[in-house]
Amino acid sequence: MTNWLDKILSKAKAAGAKLSDSFKKKTIENADLWSSCPECKKMFLGKELKKNMHVCTQCDYHFRISADDRFKIFFDNASYEMIDTKRLAEDPNKFKTELKAYKDQLKSAKKKTKQIASLVSAHGKVNGLDMICSSFDFNFNGGTLSMQSGQNFYEACEYAVKNKVSALTVFITTGGAALQENLFALYQMPKTILGVQMLKENKIPYFVVANVNIGGVSASFGSLGDFHIMEPGKKTIWGFAGKRVVQGTISEPLPEDFQSASHVITTGAIDMITHRKDQKNVISNLVSILLKKEHVQHSTLSSSEEAQAVNQ
Ligand SMILES: [Zn+2]
Repeated sequence: MTNWLDKILSKAKAAGAKLSDSFKKKTIENADLWSSCPECKKMFLGKELKKNMHVCTQCDYHFRISADDRFKIFFDNASYEMIDTKRLAEDPNKFKTELKAYKDQLKSAKKKTKQIASLVSAHGKVNGLDMICSSFDFNFNGGTLSMQSGQNFYEACEYAVKNKVSALTVFITTGGAALQENLFALYQMPKTILGVQMLKENKIPYFVVANVNIGGVSASFGSLGDFHIMEPGKKTIWGFAGKRVVQGTISEPLPEDFQSASHVITTGAIDMITHRKDQKNVISNLVSILLKKEHVQHSTLSSSEEAQAVNQ
């Protein structure tokens, strides 16, 4: 009798577990398929959002996108080559909290983004001009500046000089320096500045395009561009410390849009606010004026072909 009952119970348990697994799997698949706009809450199919360069069609909110998506949007025909860099030893402080070891955090960030660090670089054509593009990926530990990210940026500058490219553009969406790496992360500030210096000495125009630019990044290579461009939106940030810290320090009320694009443009810290769909043409126009080089005014692809290439 007990055997008969046990058998039924174990079968029911197995069926329940299977159902729960398939439910979890479906939920994850749907999460990839659907996104909601953090600003107006409109729901989007992943494909639809990709087609619109990850910008909300209702309120123009600019989503924080991966380095891979940046490259596909920026380079002609979504075609580019990744720049390989020297691998550095990781986790110099053997940092760990009660919740997670930094080593494991890096491991899951690498798996999630298929990148070696929060900043990676690529080489390709932008409206026919030879350019390097470096980009942070917020999905990699909140886009924090680590030793490897600093190294990747520095080597992108070296590569730009060696290959005499027309310009280097960095797309910034960062949480600042990687605190887990302590002084090793802070050392990336002078190191990246040396990279920018190398570009300036070789007269290679350097563009900064930011969605979120704070902490050690805004205090170093994130504020040294020949042109500073911000994406529009209330949730964009350009500053050093966060709004609450600043308010607590000066004990004075701050404007509601403090540190967002509409406020920063009034301070002179940035040169322009540019929609994601216009960034490629604005930068290639400026490069051709600076270097007196001819460029293709618009992509040679028709808009439907280009959308197809971006969606690949
Ligand atoms: Zn929206």
